[in-house]
Amino acid sequence: MRVRIGLGSDLHELVPGRPCILGGVTLPYERGPRGHSDGDAVLHALTDALLGAAGLDDLGTRFPDDDARWAGADSRRLLAAAWDDVRAAGWELANADVVIQTEGPRIAPFRAAMAEAIAAVLGVEVTRINLKGKSFEGLGALAGGRAVLVQAVVLLTAD
Ligand code: MG
Repeated sequence: MRVRIGLGSDLHELVPGRPCILGGVTLPYERGPRGHSDGDAVLHALTDALLGAAGLDDLGTRFPDDDARWAGADSRRLLAAAWDDVRAAGWELANADVVIQTEGPRIAPFRAAMAEAIAAVLGVEVTRINLKGKSFEGLGALAGGRAVLVQAVVLLTAD
């Protein structure tokens, strides 16, 4: 059996007037991630982890943020398109682990809903997807709900 690991990271500013979409779920929060697409930093980090593990071009190369086709795009579409290519190369997902760092929206109450949304896009058991929230301990420019920073790691397997 072959195994490959992948790491993805994404940072988005949280700004007024944007829906707070993270992990494919709209969270109740007064600011949302600024972005060309829907700004879903969780799905962006996860997509980059999957593409990286498979040795494919990254999210920004595949879906440039100056391309009008992806303006306001539902990031589940980007994840699904990338995952199609990863699977076509023969890979299956062993598991994904995601850290969502923010002092904006509460993450813990929505972990299960995010895992279900991601599992639905990937067509895998929800137990393969894990997410957790962390703060910035009030330190630095990203504290105080100004941003969301996401890191995702995945393990792919192939026969
Ligand atoms: Mg992004």
